[in-house]
Amino acid sequence: MGAKLESGISRRGFLISTSMVAAVGALYPRYLLAQGDGLVQTARKTAAAATITVQKLRSNVSVLMGAGGNIAVLPGRDGKLLIDAGFAGARSKIADALASISSDPVKHLINTHWHFDHTDGNEWLHSAGAIILAHENTRKHLSTTTRVEGWNFTFPPAPPGAIPAEVFGDERTVQLNGTTIVLKHYAPAHTDSDISVLFTGADIFHVADTFWNGYYPFIDYSTGGSIDGMIRATEANLAKVTDKMIVIPGHGAVGDKSQLAFYRDLLVGTREKVAALKKQGQSLDEIVATKPTAATDAKWGNGFRSPKDFIGDVFRGV
Ligand SMILES: [Zn+2]
Repeated sequence: MGAKLESGISRRGFLISTSMVAAVGALYPRYLLAQGDGLVQTARKTAAAATITVQKLRSNVSVLMGAGGNIAVLPGRDGKLLIDAGFAGARSKIADALASISSDPVKHLINTHWHFDHTDGNEWLHSAGAIILAHENTRKHLSTTTRVEGWNFTFPPAPPGAIPAEVFGDERTVQLNGTTIVLKHYAPAHTDSDISVLFTGADIFHVADTFWNGYYPFIDYSTGGSIDGMIRATEANLAKVTDKMIVIPGHGAVGDKSQLAFYRDLLVGTREKVAALKKQGQSLDEIVATKPTAATDAKWGNGFRSPKDFIGDVFRGV
């Protein structure tokens, strides 16, 4: 990790080194390896057994990893602000991790997009006192029956308490705990509901599921995502990120500009290869057999999405 991160020591006394965080990040996605039917159910069922790590970044911002998407936490006198809610089944472990950061109650929750690994915990966090804020398309998808072909799963409407009470369109600025937090909607990228969250004082940029650090990304075409949208969002992220900024991805280890640039090159390079072969008339299976992502498969293809899944997501959009 290139970012200058402080080592975090949780209340239980674990020293969270960068290597440990990397190890945990590698372990977590195993239960998402199953494809097709059962992926969503399996993820939810196994969430209770998840190991949550707390990584302190700077200026009081921490990240919880291990129970769905990465959860950023800003404690303070206005109550804790959470960026994303993780899996509901990990409630007790997330509550323990939050208590290890401070005794402030959870008062605010922002969803980076509508996906279940970021919003499954909305209901319990709302019942614990959190006001939920998100992009208007997050509320739209959580309010209705929504099918995700890539997961072969149809989500029923979320319970009323899980629905964001406040929504915005393009941009929203929030003042909490002495910090200015800027929320910005992306043009459709991973979904049509993605937002970035910039902690201005801390210079920490949470870019939601537009960035998967060390794992091939999932692209949800069912709710507005596309490979070209992912590339546009990544270019937009790179235009904003400075060398000193800490970048929180939706999944994978906390990173920096150089890792974001590597990821951009991976997306663009894969898109070019797959598009050229598809134009020649090759089928998806034929293109997968040419191993267009061979250079990164060993590292990036062992998590949420296999090389074939990722190539399939690119193929669909070119
Ligand atoms: Zn997602």
